[in-house]
Amino acid sequence: MEKFLRKHWGYDSFRPLQREAVETALSGRDALVVMPTGGGKSICYQLPAAMERGLVLVISPLIALMDDQVAAAREAGLAADALHSNLDAARRRSAYRNLAEGKTRLLYVSPERLFAGDLFESVAGKPMLFALDEAHCVSHWGHEFRPEYRRLREVLERFPDAARMALTATATMAVQDDICAQLGLREPARLVGHPDRANLVYRAFARRDQLAQISAVVRRHGGEGGIVYAQTRKDVERIAAGLQRAGVSCAAYHAGLPADERRRAQEGFVNERLDVIAATIAFGMGIDRSNVRFVIHANTPRSVEHYQQESGRAGRDGLPAECVLLFAASDLVMHRKLALLDGNIAPERRLVLDRQLRDIGRYAVAPVCRHRLLTEHFGARYEPNGAEGCKACDVCLGETKSLEPAEAVLTAKKVLSAAWRAEGRFGKEYVVNLLFGHLDERMGRNGDDKLKVFALLKDAGKDAIRSWIDQLTVQGFLEITEDGDYPLLRITEAGRALCRDEGTVRLGVPAAPAAGKKKAKASAKNAALVSPEDRELFERLRELRRLISAKLALPPYVVFHDTVLVEMSVNKPRAPQELLELKGVGEQKLARYGAAFLKVIAGAPPEDEAGLF
Ligand code: ADP
Repeated sequence: MEKFLRKHWGYDSFRPLQREAVETALSGRDALVVMPTGGGKSICYQLPAAMERGLVLVISPLIALMDDQVAAAREAGLAADALHSNLDAARRRSAYRNLAEGKTRLLYVSPERLFAGDLFESVAGKPMLFALDEAHCVSHWGHEFRPEYRRLREVLERFPDAARMALTATATMAVQDDICAQLGLREPARLVGHPDRANLVYRAFARRDQLAQISAVVRRHGGEGGIVYAQTRKDVERIAAGLQRAGVSCAAYHAGLPADERRRAQEGFVNERLDVIAATIAFGMGIDRSNVRFVIHANTPRSVEHYQQESGRAGRDGLPAECVLLFAASDLVMHRKLALLDGNIAPERRLVLDRQLRDIGRYAVAPVCRHRLLTEHFGARYEPNGAEGCKACDVCLGETKSLEPAEAVLTAKKVLSAAWRAEGRFGKEYVVNLLFGHLDERMGRNGDDKLKVFALLKDAGKDAIRSWIDQLTVQGFLEITEDGDYPLLRITEAGRALCRDEGTVRLGVPAAPAAGKKKAKASAKNAALVSPEDRELFERLRELRRLISAKLALPPYVVFHDTVLVEMSVNKPRAPQELLELKGVGEQKLARYGAAFLKVIAGAPPEDEAGLF
């Protein structure tokens, strides 16, 4: 197995669980593989294909990714093809011919093609393995249920001798059980990796000035790739325009744009002509750029599973990257409203929805290590080294501080009594103004400026008060209810109890805007991929990769990942053999690109020289 890993991918050793997954498949046993994004799931099913023990079929709902995956597998020297509805006639014919002649080792298939029925008539030999990618789509309890995935089982049952491997990046225990049941996995080996992504720095902040907060993150990643997710098309366009005005190479992406504009944005980003994409979550399902260095959520996502998946697009290459979430409790109200627009929503689905919103809210505002919260959400334990915590989230980096328990209770009581006094007649901003002592017209009319709570938290500032209201809301002490179109803030039973000193509460103090400088330093250190001396070579290698990828119409990461360029910049190999020793350089890539990269490492400018590749 190691020999094949080395020969095709240029890697010396397996990542956690890869060996077990491959061995399970080779022994004909079913498996559930849960590995975080970037964990190396593809090798689990590609290696059995490379060993040529029979046909490996990969079922994936992500048609947009298939062609790149096939290109990457072919670059590694595998006989791979794809069958899906977007293929042109010539490619479809050649895929069927290869299947009939028994040449194909690895076949990517969309579920629609699989159900079409005629596929297996063309296959010479029996499939040895069905790899079911994005397997969480089969579960109701997950975050992307796809009804057609439920039909996979019928097809699988026609091939009792083939092993089944279900793969996903994000699955709680309930979703894992459901995947095994729905796909009819037979006493599967459960290979569940640790969900933590140690190379990611997580930050969650209260949303204040959205564009300014986004720009600050983008600025400290100058020239690097990143995605900014926003809820609405209008927000996407506003953010893209704002970043463009600030000189950032950025495009907008949402379902309302013409198809060719969307394609241009997507291709520009994948081919590294564009640094930043501002997008709705429609963007990303088909994106496999591995050197995304930051993912910003301008709005709160719908669930922790969504967050893990969307933020997981950062740092797939294993190098440091940053994920920032800008939170406001009103986002959760909006999600709930949108979900309930479908009047037929089943009661159990409604329970799932409420739990999901509560969990993501808690993630965003609890002053608790974010790596820990995410890890524990997926049912694993988080044990960072040492007492300092992960040193890779705003809480452990000291950017968000917790109030002492006694002070937290006192502060919570002040906020809650203001909400109580406002008696559920007003929204959040009214309560913020009341506590801050900002007299508005309505308040004067109501005589609320005479209340004891008026200006009770003046010193804390409005941002802190706003954030505390959010924090108390996601912890269940306050609730936002809808009266007509207007969201009202009310105290809950638990809130009243807390005022009577029953129960506990945790409150964080959001970072003051001035903390920005410190933040920048912490992440700049993390983001330094190569030393300043090697930077120039790294950029020349990037440029060569861009030229090659444009010429071959392949995404740059299919040629080489950033990790390989970093290794080249640091080790500066001089001969083909030295190049082959680097992680990520296999035999086929050495033959194709080795000479061109060695030349640039030796000092030549990156040029598209005839005959070199
Ligand atoms: P996933 O599908 O789990 O997100 P991929 O299969 O795309 O992850 O792999 C993520 C990255 O890790 C890729 O760049 C891949 O080449 C690299 N990788 C996979 N396995 C290994 C390994 N054993 N050693 C080093 N790098 C690996």
